[in-house]
Amino acid sequence: MNRGSKVLLALAAGTLAVSSLIACSGSSDEVNLYSSRNEGLIKPLLDEFTAETGIRVNLLTGSGSGLLSRIQSEGSNTPADLFLTVDAGSLHRAKQANLFQPIHTQILEGAVPDHLRDSERHWYGLSMRARPVFYAKERVNPEEITDYLSLADEQWRGRICVRSSDNIYNQSMVAAMIAHHGEAVTEEWARGLVANFARNPVGGDRDQIHAVASGQCDIAIANTYYFGGMSLSEDATNQNTVSKVAIAWPAQDSYGTHVNVSGIGLIKSARNPENAIKLMNFLARESSQNWYAEANSEYPVNPNAQWSEVLQSWGNFKADEISMSELGENNAAAVRLMDRAGWR
Ligand code: FE
Repeated sequence: MNRGSKVLLALAAGTLAVSSLIACSGSSDEVNLYSSRNEGLIKPLLDEFTAETGIRVNLLTGSGSGLLSRIQSEGSNTPADLFLTVDAGSLHRAKQANLFQPIHTQILEGAVPDHLRDSERHWYGLSMRARPVFYAKERVNPEEITDYLSLADEQWRGRICVRSSDNIYNQSMVAAMIAHHGEAVTEEWARGLVANFARNPVGGDRDQIHAVASGQCDIAIANTYYFGGMSLSEDATNQNTVSKVAIAWPAQDSYGTHVNVSGIGLIKSARNPENAIKLMNFLARESSQNWYAEANSEYPVNPNAQWSEVLQSWGNFKADEISMSELGENNAAAVRLMDRAGWR
């Protein structure tokens, strides 16, 4: 190729770039994201996306249920292109409410394992969290913690802390138990667990872990990233808790420790579907996934992404590979069952 034709090619490429810019500004260079994750947990990634693609992300944050009803009441006029929220149970509620449209992209299919996305592709998991047992190092031998079922054994009478049954994390955990053991066994288990409570459920997951450190209970069930946050915090209470508490991974000899996801779906009436899909792909790729692990001590869903130092310090574990869709499908049964078992 001579020099002249190289210049011509470069000029042509330049023209293309300019005309595609004009085409984009004629349509829309933005995407609207409704997110139940607080801004700090998502904004840096969104800024990186904008810097890379020129697509502005308008972020609206709120509670998961609040945003869900907002999208419902806005109907087909909703500006929302994407809804991001935590817990497969909540994502399933959004799907049931007819909010999402199914999508397939090669990047999402490759990045998000089958069990961590909706079975009909209405939503995709973006980060994974585990719900293991946290135990007092001074008072508990971790070998005593074998699986979730054994938490109903008499040896744990008055020793367990866990938050209330209106919390979706517990509902999803019980939904998984129903899938593995059936309703009858799970209900008996829930009664035994309630009998083992050290106190009436109060507070969130963090409070349960702190309660183990302060001696109110010997073991607690909670999500891993809260403990990660404490490990990275310089606050004295957090540091004290981290020094006294450790993680035991239940069900390693059977189906694995219960896990859940945060996830995202494309809104049915999205006006910027192409930009929205670009953002979904972006959030699932390795570098974004690494960021989740670093910033929020969540496990990446993308198997090629790296675990942060905190995650590595907790060691490898076998995670339950039950389909996240089942957690949503069993949610109503789980809620009724917990009520019958007296789990307040
Ligand atoms: Fe949480």
